[in-house]
Amino acid sequence: MTASFLPPKRILMGPGPSDVPQRVLDAMARPTIGHLDPAFVDLMEQIKAMLRMAFRTENALTFPVSAPGSAGMEMCFVNLVEPGDKVIVCRNGVFGGRMLENVKRTGGVPVVVDDAWGAAVDPQKVRDAFKSNPDAKVLAFVHAETSTGAQSDAAALAKIAQEAGALTILDCVTSLGGTPVLLDQWRIDAAYSGSQKCLSCTPGLSPVSFSERAIEKIKARKTPVQSWFLDLNLVLGYWQSAGKRTYHHTAPINPMYGLHESLVMLEEEGLENSWARHRAMHEKLKAGLEGLGLRYVVEESARLPQLNSIYVPEGVDEAAIRSRLLSEFNLEIGAGLGDMAGKIWRIGLMGYSAKQANIDLCLQALSACLE
Ligand code: PLP
Repeated sequence: MTASFLPPKRILMGPGPSDVPQRVLDAMARPTIGHLDPAFVDLMEQIKAMLRMAFRTENALTFPVSAPGSAGMEMCFVNLVEPGDKVIVCRNGVFGGRMLENVKRTGGVPVVVDDAWGAAVDPQKVRDAFKSNPDAKVLAFVHAETSTGAQSDAAALAKIAQEAGALTILDCVTSLGGTPVLLDQWRIDAAYSGSQKCLSCTPGLSPVSFSERAIEKIKARKTPVQSWFLDLNLVLGYWQSAGKRTYHHTAPINPMYGLHESLVMLEEEGLENSWARHRAMHEKLKAGLEGLGLRYVVEESARLPQLNSIYVPEGVDEAAIRSRLLSEFNLEIGAGLGDMAGKIWRIGLMGYSAKQANIDLCLQALSACLE
């Protein structure tokens, strides 16, 4: 007989998922109810309201997609890009590359703005791209590049798109809850995030938000959205305001309890306090890492507090160290992706993981392994 699975107790300081508080796990263990039950409908309304708080938006169309961040990404592209639409897509790491892949698969015509891995997106390059492509309809960029730890200036980039009359798609998977994401102030038209990073819920849900301008563009489409599951016109039948809900798919009920609880915890802490905590914990970790002689990949002005990328010291077997951290200290940190594989470590300070005890453990464990 196969035994039940009992996961080891780990401390998660990688690029996500982050540690999940017991309160969130307890919420998920509550009894499952039906997805059209009036009590569940009330919970959905509360989740929508709390996500508006987290995204700093009044957008009515703000809800969690029943699938991970990649599905939120895909929902933005399949709904907002029609075949032949020109899209300026910024690539300064893995996730910008995935945006590009989405543009191609929706039949859009991509104009790629490349920046070095580890650097922020250069607003001047985006301005130049719009100058050479005045017919571009959408600008897409990643706010917090998890593959490198670089944060781009979302306010400046969104402003360039507005001046050019284009819509903006923002990836804020790693920033939401950890650093300011101000959808209304920046006038972002479509944004997607993930439940498993600075919100400290389990993976598998993708909060999204769409502006009125985005909805107008979707309603004016000449072609049907090619994905049935992600077609906003259909999903809305389930997530729209009380009274008229119809079956679209069976919502993941218990994970929604978890997301609700993690948002209640964010409300209790206060969004701005959460941003401040991520910043303060980053400063402490940074001091310790630099004390160990480790160097950051990203220059200080563009550094994400919640994702600390550092160079692996010369001559060190990075995979062997990560494996020791896991087996001896139960500590997970991340490896480099793509071009940075083997060269960097990524240390996450996301959500519930952004705390002093984790920093102490990480510094002590790294110091022991690097001796
Ligand atoms: N975008 C960014 C910036 C991410 O960091 C991630 C996941 O790490 C994703 C998108 C995809 O999210 P998921 O893995 O939940 O599908």
